[in-house]
Amino acid sequence: MASVLELAKQITGEVIAPLAAEIDRTKRFPKEAFKAFGKAGLLGLLVPQEAGGLGGTLEDLVAVTETIAESCGSTAMCYLMHSCATMVVAAKANEDQKERYLRPIAEGMKIGTLAFSETGTGAHFYTPEIRAALDEDTFVLNGRKSFVTNGDHADFLLVLTNAPTADKGLNMFIVDRDTPGVRFEGEWNGIGLRGNNSISLVMENVRVPHAQLVGAEGDGMGLIFEVVAPFFILGVSGVNVGLARGAYLTALQHAKTRKYADGRSLADIQAIQFYLSDMFGAVEAASLFARNASKAAIEGQEDAVLRVMQAKVLASESAIKVTNLAMQVCGGQGYTQQLPVERYLRDARAGTVMAPTTEVLKEWVGKSVAGIPLF
Ligand SMILES: Cc1cc2nc3c(=O)[nH]c(=O)nc-3n(C[C@H](O)[C@H](O)[C@H](O)COP(=O)(O)OP(=O)(O)OC[C@H]3O[C@@H](n4cnc5c(N)ncnc54)[C@H](O)[C@@H]3O)c2cc1C
Repeated sequence: MASVLELAKQITGEVIAPLAAEIDRTKRFPKEAFKAFGKAGLLGLLVPQEAGGLGGTLEDLVAVTETIAESCGSTAMCYLMHSCATMVVAAKANEDQKERYLRPIAEGMKIGTLAFSETGTGAHFYTPEIRAALDEDTFVLNGRKSFVTNGDHADFLLVLTNAPTADKGLNMFIVDRDTPGVRFEGEWNGIGLRGNNSISLVMENVRVPHAQLVGAEGDGMGLIFEVVAPFFILGVSGVNVGLARGAYLTALQHAKTRKYADGRSLADIQAIQFYLSDMFGAVEAASLFARNASKAAIEGQEDAVLRVMQAKVLASESAIKVTNLAMQVCGGQGYTQQLPVERYLRDARAGTVMAPTTEVLKEWVGKSVAGIPLF
């Protein structure tokens, strides 16, 4: 799949990198990048080839998100949420859903996202409070989803709810943005990822026919842990590795080119060399860990789940560490908007608080290695 990565690198260099600072400053959705992804077929990275997509893998997603985030965290996060939504539809799509969603995604005509989080559930997004009601054979949704990345730029949203009766578990619905009763509220004003348009979805008597259910009633929990978990957790690991690498490369370049009157550069100073070593090691370790975890997941290795969870812990904590060190290397200049280091640092801060959060993951990883059941 070298060509997919080459394509991502080309779009990143030509479209994404030049707009990254402006997207951060103005908090706007990266629409130019999505247009370019659509034209190049990259919106359909995870759409199976028989539905017109590129048939890419988890490993491709990690590599692509890493590449994009090296220049723009906001765009990488928006692309990741779209890709996760695509994967959920692709996992169980019937022929009708393939034609109405997967094919248009592959043609660059539809953007998706995940609407899981609710204010009340917070980090435990897999325990929604919203319960779908049933009116004859139509589901009716009422309630609010928070932190919906892509927000009103998404054409469809994967909405997680309780099934109408408790014994059925969780349902996952594809809800079109223009369905009556759907509206969006608020404005994203986070310290970082400022272009990710993560706003609230409000649903008032939204009527959703059976044709919009992904899989069967009660398939929601399985979709979360078997489909969303590996793709989202490793994709967000890719985003954080990319942010760390972007900050590291910026600091390295600055260290080599910033000269003092005696002709020495920052890179000639031992303290700075130690920081460069720490950053290089942290970026490469997190990157390798995420790639190995994606291979483990693709091959169905016994400890794949453990590796996937630890990959996000490592990547998100490394991104905070590396972006901090990058600012230290760049000094006062790094603290200003002269260099993108301050943006990388702000963007990287989201990684550990996005569900599954570092605390939750560490508990799960600790239980797994100790042989204690997760739930
Ligand atoms: C930039 C961004 C984009 C997002 N995009 C999306 C999206 O597209 N779709 C979506 O559905 N959601 C999205 N989210 C939501 C996200 O995944 C989390 O659900 C949300 O950040 C939880 O926030 P909260 O304030 O409710 O956390 P809280 O649940 O209040 O947690 C606060 C702190 O307590 C800790 N904590 C909570 N419970 C435990 C526990 N049992 N053990 C140990 N520690 C615990 C947490 O780890 C965290 O550090 C996004 C979030 C961000 C920041």
